[in-house]
Amino acid sequence: MEKKIRMNKRKRIALIAHDRRKKDLIEWVQFNKGTLSEHELYATGTTGSLIEQKTGLKVTKFKSGPLGGDQEIGAKISEGEIDVLIFFWDPLEPLAHDVDIKALLRIATVYNIPVAITRSTADFVISSPLFKSEYEQIQTDYESELKDRIMKIVQQNSEPN
Ligand code: PGA
Repeated sequence: MEKKIRMNKRKRIALIAHDRRKKDLIEWVQFNKGTLSEHELYATGTTGSLIEQKTGLKVTKFKSGPLGGDQEIGAKISEGEIDVLIFFWDPLEPLAHDVDIKALLRIATVYNIPVAITRSTADFVISSPLFKSEYEQIQTDYESELKDRIMKIVQQNSEPN
């Protein structure tokens, strides 16, 4: 089963960059400052502080990624409180919190939110007309699926042997 979720014009955008990709993300944010200033920005700790310092944009900051920031953003996505994820991860170096990174990308996929992991994809996403308009997002209705599963388990357990 599927359900539709309405995304507002004003998007809630999570921004994350690993250390070797922070320069790229800051440049991207600087270039798109005008557009981004019309939306709500969230970020992991270090990325968010750098964005604020270098661009003057206001950012709601979570913990640093290795200290749980990626998981905090994942939780926000699962609560329907983040609309877009811009995540410049480092493809050339293993990191201590690789499992958190995988979990974040997984949860973003589960909830079908737009995700950009390269600068060129981020350019495509931000220049899409959908970025500044309302959007009906299709999601699997996991709550209905869960209710069905619970019903089946209850029925199976109440059947006489
Ligand atoms: P940071 O975290 O913004 O605190 O550097 C990013 C990450 O490593 O996931």
